[in-house]
Amino acid sequence: MNLHDLPQGALASALALQREAFARDPMPSAAVRRERLDRLTRLLKDNQQAICEAICADFGHRAHTETRLIEIFPSLEAVRYARRKLAGWMKPARRHTSLWFLPGRSEVRYQPLGVVGIIVPWNYPLYLAIGPLVGALAAGNRALIKMSEFGPNFGALFARLIREAFPPDLVSVVLGGAEVAAEFSALPFDHLLFTGSTPVGRIVMAAAAKNLTPVTLELGGKSPAIVAPGFDITTAAQRIGFGKTMNGGQTCIAPDYVLLPRGQEEAFIAAMRAFAQKLYGDAASPDYASVAHERHYARLRALLDEARAMGARIEPLLADGAISGRKLAPVVLLGGTPQMRLMQEEIFGPILPVIPYDTLDEAIAYVNERDRPLALYVFDDQRSRIESLLDRTASGGVTVNDCILHIAQDDIPFGGVGPSGIGRYHGPEGFKTFSQQRSVFRQSAWNASAILHPPFGKPLAERLIKLMLR
Ligand code: NAD
Repeated sequence: MNLHDLPQGALASALALQREAFARDPMPSAAVRRERLDRLTRLLKDNQQAICEAICADFGHRAHTETRLIEIFPSLEAVRYARRKLAGWMKPARRHTSLWFLPGRSEVRYQPLGVVGIIVPWNYPLYLAIGPLVGALAAGNRALIKMSEFGPNFGALFARLIREAFPPDLVSVVLGGAEVAAEFSALPFDHLLFTGSTPVGRIVMAAAAKNLTPVTLELGGKSPAIVAPGFDITTAAQRIGFGKTMNGGQTCIAPDYVLLPRGQEEAFIAAMRAFAQKLYGDAASPDYASVAHERHYARLRALLDEARAMGARIEPLLADGAISGRKLAPVVLLGGTPQMRLMQEEIFGPILPVIPYDTLDEAIAYVNERDRPLALYVFDDQRSRIESLLDRTASGGVTVNDCILHIAQDDIPFGGVGPSGIGRYHGPEGFKTFSQQRSVFRQSAWNASAILHPPFGKPLAERLIKLMLR
């Protein structure tokens, strides 16, 4: 089903259709789940070109190879991993039973929740639809997916591909603007996973609360990179530069700003500029992505104009070249002050403030004084100092000595903490997020519980109670 121009009640009917189908098949076998995941593999493999073209059209420009690397590859990996692991994840887990209840047995069983709602942003429209869908299907659920109105070409393509791969009572895609999104998040799903901005996350959680629908909120925030004293500045500049320019900086876990030992600023800028030029030549490069839509482009320009007017030094890393459309050359910014919006808000574009520090304690304090971020990047060669940095800061995830890559590890959970998100998915944690972790205690034929029944005061029961309360 493709809910384009939504007639009244269409969303509720789509949910009801999936609910009914779920009631008929509440515990699909591992083989059935694998077959469903295989359909996703085929969808991804058979439509690479169309996927790249649609996303490129929505962005204004994004290299097809970049889409293959940052969307299709991690999507395929997520499917492959879940396919391989799901039979093990589905097995009931034996748990400890206290002495007093033996020989009874305790276990946790993983049951599908039912129908999962998935809300997708525009920046990684394929991966952020497929990733949650893999978790939902592996856990035996059905899913309704709301695509972003800011990616109309890809939204329409994905709706068609899903329609061709799955019946509407198993997976279906919803298209439409903020109004549809609001109606979508008010549906009584069994679980709702939202990926997007923190302000909209608040609205989504409030809507879900009315139904007591549990939510996973995958939000954003300002993810710092900390370069420790003594770490090779060129290596740090290259790895941070790659994380910041990938997808034109429009990555939820892109390094938002960098904390650098004071005095290293010029070397860092020079190394990052040389690296950016090696990667792209100039900002007109076909390998460099555009800012995906006009409102966002205007916002980024306004952030830069404000910072410049307030005295920041802005260092372009690439010449504009024969730049057209919404390409924004990456820049490093020095002299940022707390009054500037780009020092307060998630930047979500190719602008990198560099903040010098005198002591590592000062850098840690800077991070800890702010909202807990989605990601944190630590560049350091000293093992004990890395451990200490990890212990003394908080974030959803961490990559040590590089950027972004923790998201691509399918066996570790992905999610935020505090304002950067609630809950997690990917791998076994994703499976659990989309499962009811049902507690089961099996009483044995023979057991001693009757000894403790009233009337109270029997000598054997009294002796037992004394032991129990020892
Ligand atoms: P957004 O919050 O504007 O929109 C996300 C989705 O929410 C869209 O599908 C939109 O239609 C929908 N939406 C809009 N209004 C809604 C409402 N009232 N109720 C319900 N849904 C509504 O975010 P965006 O601009 O698409 O994406 C950028 C943001 O997403 C950044 O903050 C980024 O950090 C974050 N992000 C986070 C992750 C992550 O995995 N944590 C990944 C990518 C992006």
